Amino acid sequence: MSLDQAAMRRLISAAAEEVIASAPELTALDQAIGDGDHGINMKRGFEAVLGQIDAIASRPPGDAVKTVGKTLVMTVGGASGPLYGSFFMAVGEAITGGRRLPEDLAEAFASGVAAVSARGRAKAGEKTMLDVLVPVLDTLRAEAGRPDLTRRVCEVASKAAEKTAPMLATKGRASFLGPRSIGHVDPGARSSCVLVHAICNALETRS
Ligand code: ADP
Ligand code: MG
Repeated sequence: MSLDQAAMRRLISAAAEEVIASAPELTALDQAIGDGDHGINMKRGFEAVLGQIDAIASRPPGDAVKTVGKTLVMTVGGASGPLYGSFFMAVGEAITGGRRLPEDLAEAFASGVAAVSARGRAKAGEKTMLDVLVPVLDTLRAEAGRPDLTRRVCEVASKAAEKTAPMLATKGRASFLGPRSIGHVDPGARSSCVLVHAICNALETRS
């Protein structure tokens, strides 16, 4: 089983549509501990992805995912643009390099997480998107092959995003607030959760 072009198109469209729909929530979260642009940034980027969905989906899967990353780098802006861009470019690179979807999802995802960590010079525990991406990766690895993997991953992502609320931000704009960053969910953790849910739901719908 491997993801064909139609399936890749559905996955990318579903991710883009969910992020666009969540823009008001992401903006509200970023108003609390940032500058209030995360929803707008993500919406702009994923609208650009949707605008080229035909061209993107007609490419081989690795190139399609890399193009999503490049589009996000060029359009999202802020801290999150280069980070999400790096994520998708690295996942695309992993697929081009021979990782297959969905079989090698965990290792392709791992390449994306490593790229975010390297670019952001960050690790889990610093109140960023990595606080969702890392637990999701751990779950993909630990529970690979389970029939309910996508449901488990969604649960982990939701809980992980919530768990950023009591954390102290030590990276990005929220770190400027020091202890006042405590008590709010991190916007990027929430957008990662939205992306993970969208992709899991789209994968489930096709099986
Ligand atoms: P900006 O902070 O430049 O306004 P956004 O609002 O679009 O950019 O994105 C903010 C999100 O980016 C944060 O909520 C956090 O999850 C993520 N982020 C910021 N800096 C880093 C970093 N160094 N490593 C990982 N994620 C980061
Ligand atoms: Mg912001």
